[in-house]
Amino acid sequence: MTKDPKGRDAKTIKDDLRTGTPYWLKTPNVTVQSGRMTERDHFDAIIVGAGISGALVAEALTRQGSKVLILDRRAPVRGSSPASTAMIQHEIDIPMIHHIRDMGTTKANAVWRRSAKAVQDLVDLVDDLGLDCQMQAKQALYLTGNILGSRAMQDEAAARKAAGIAAEYLNAPALRDRFGLDRTGAIVSDASASANPAQMTAGLLKVAQSRGAVILSDTEVTDMAELPSGVALATADGQALTADHVVFCTGYEFLPAMQSATHQITSTWALASEPGLAHPDWLDDFLVWEAAEPYLYYRTTPDGRIIVGGEDEDSPDRNDDPALLDEKARAICDKLRDLAGIDIGKPAYVWSAAFGNTTDGLPIIDRVPRHDRVFAVMGFGGNGITFSVIASQVIAAAIAGKPDPDAKLFAFR
Ligand SMILES: Cc1cc2nc3c(=O)[nH]c(=O)nc-3n(C[C@H](O)[C@H](O)[C@H](O)COP(=O)(O)OP(=O)(O)OC[C@H]3O[C@@H](n4cnc5c(N)ncnc54)[C@H](O)[C@@H]3O)c2cc1C
Repeated sequence: MTKDPKGRDAKTIKDDLRTGTPYWLKTPNVTVQSGRMTERDHFDAIIVGAGISGALVAEALTRQGSKVLILDRRAPVRGSSPASTAMIQHEIDIPMIHHIRDMGTTKANAVWRRSAKAVQDLVDLVDDLGLDCQMQAKQALYLTGNILGSRAMQDEAAARKAAGIAAEYLNAPALRDRFGLDRTGAIVSDASASANPAQMTAGLLKVAQSRGAVILSDTEVTDMAELPSGVALATADGQALTADHVVFCTGYEFLPAMQSATHQITSTWALASEPGLAHPDWLDDFLVWEAAEPYLYYRTTPDGRIIVGGEDEDSPDRNDDPALLDEKARAICDKLRDLAGIDIGKPAYVWSAAFGNTTDGLPIIDRVPRHDRVFAVMGFGGNGITFSVIASQVIAAAIAGKPDPDAKLFAFR
């Protein structure tokens, strides 16, 4: 029997994905109607998981005319996605100069260019579909820290520019003048955005429903078998469903068959201030994060809340402990005040969540080993939403029989 991240026997992994209350679940339009049973038992594609990954894949597949069924063991939009701080970045957790060192310039350039394109694609998609999810195009400010000092940050800016990705290096005096922040250097870049992740996920799922997709909640997939003619799924409540293709978008409860040494589940914390909190004007147009471990990151919402997160720990279960919420919130608030002079006061919402990362900072978007018709997407770190966009494009192309030229960058490792 497979073990889940906490060593328990499991056919499919199940985790406590969130503790506390993510702010986004208290905003309107984050609920999607769903059923428990379907009369039809065969679909072109079944997507397991109704988070942002499943929603984007469902949008892409229904756009190309597929009959889609979406299954989730929870209600739609109630996994990790509503815990996200939704800083939509092309910048990857691993610096580009480290990617160049580890995988070579050609591959690193291709990964980073694809990531920048995915952010723009998402902003355009939300606009084309008319989704109301607080999507705002932003710039990003990436500060030096214990991973990149000022010299390495200059190299990072140069590497990105050489790949055709805008990046302006600021030295310490320029950073202080322009942003009032005291660090040895920073990169200012474009191609970023922020959104309400729960509204965005719900909006995409509703678009897929309007094109005929069926969503079943409280429906846990417990087994699968690939047949010559398609894929059969068994659910905990005894349903047997078949499809030409299945896509597992199960987030941090990844499929045991996709378990790999390059992928870890960790714990992270985030909070939202009250609305209208005092902050510098420039912050409304920026995402801020640091080349540090653990890193602090922050941004604003349109109603003037500060969303800030960090304090990650390399443990899959520390996020389950409600007693840690206050302690971690205090540490995050102290760090933000020391860095930016912003005083959160008493946070309005504090939450913790499971979080994933891969050693190379890249997601895994691929067929499940020894399967032709079963795909899985996983390994989403700090820019997981951007990677979910790439996943939807790569998988829709594979199912349409027109493989994406970048697919090999994200192959199972
Ligand atoms: C605190 C936090 C902050 C983050 N900040 C950012 C950020 O600023 N920017 C960014 O880009 N990314 C960020 N991320 C990452 C991003 O949020 C994730 O990559 C993304 O939400 C994952 O979406 P998903 O759809 O893959 O997973 P989920 O939203 O978890 O959806 C997966 C679904 O699959 C279902 N499921 C699992 N197993 C089964 C099964 N066997 N049967 C049926 N259903 C099943 C689950 O119930 C769940 O609803 C953050 C994540 C966290 C936790």
